[in-house]
Amino acid sequence: MSIIKVEHLCKNFGELKVLKDCNLEVEEGEVVCIIGPSGGGKSTFLRTLNHLEKISSGKIWIDGTLIDDKKPHDMNKAGLSKKELEKVLLKTGMCFQRFNLFPHLTVLENVMIAPVENLKMPKQEAEELAKQLIAKVGLSDKLDVYPAKLSGGQQQRVAIARALAMQPKIMLFDEPTSALDPERVGEVLQVIKDLAKDGMTMLIVTHEIGFAREVADKVVFMYGGTMLEVSEPEKMFTNPENERTAAFLNAVL
Ligand code: ADP
Ligand code: MG
Repeated sequence: MSIIKVEHLCKNFGELKVLKDCNLEVEEGEVVCIIGPSGGGKSTFLRTLNHLEKISSGKIWIDGTLIDDKKPHDMNKAGLSKKELEKVLLKTGMCFQRFNLFPHLTVLENVMIAPVENLKMPKQEAEELAKQLIAKVGLSDKLDVYPAKLSGGQQQRVAIARALAMQPKIMLFDEPTSALDPERVGEVLQVIKDLAKDGMTMLIVTHEIGFAREVADKVVFMYGGTMLEVSEPEKMFTNPENERTAAFLNAVL
């Protein structure tokens, strides 16, 4: 069974059709990279998966549970109790282009806070988990440092550790390196590659084509709200089927 299944997903903002009949299945442990020009609906798509955006029609299953059949937080429609819905939503963690760490909390506190406050995890356990995750992203020497003292790449690595602290089964990344100085991109991509090796299921919106080629099991080309082409990276990057995919890749490669 797919860990994510999206069927006939449509999303309108008023008259504007932003997602048009999107269909996608993601298996557990798969890495899916989403590419395509700006305005194509990539961010909106990720946000619908995490229930941040209400959908207009279609269905989304996360780990076998139908989470959305139009309105977010409409328990009756999805047939889920509030608790069940929260449980499903906890399965996805998200990282954005802007990291939004809490400026008044240290690295360690930033990573600990959600498990303590939202999962009611005992502080000591949360601290241990946070330290492990901070080590994983290579920042064990920065535990007591405040975000303002970190580079953008380091802040993004903390943001990844913070999302992982909620122990999601799926990670969603929306252009995680787009706001970084070029020399900081590699360290963040490396953390994501390590997660892929650990078997984390991930959907990553990215303009880093070399990275997508290396790490993705599947690449989705989104254009004008549709998933125009979905294929293995070799195929997508050497022999795309759609003209628009080819034109886009020509422009970015
Ligand atoms: P991408 O991430 O591929 O650049 P987006 O998902 O951000 O694309 O946007 C797709 C389209 O939806 C764009 O035309 C954008 O202007 C529009 N859009 C996104 N969010 C909103 C919103 N909250 N209200 C109205 N239009 C929106
Ligand atoms: Mg976007």
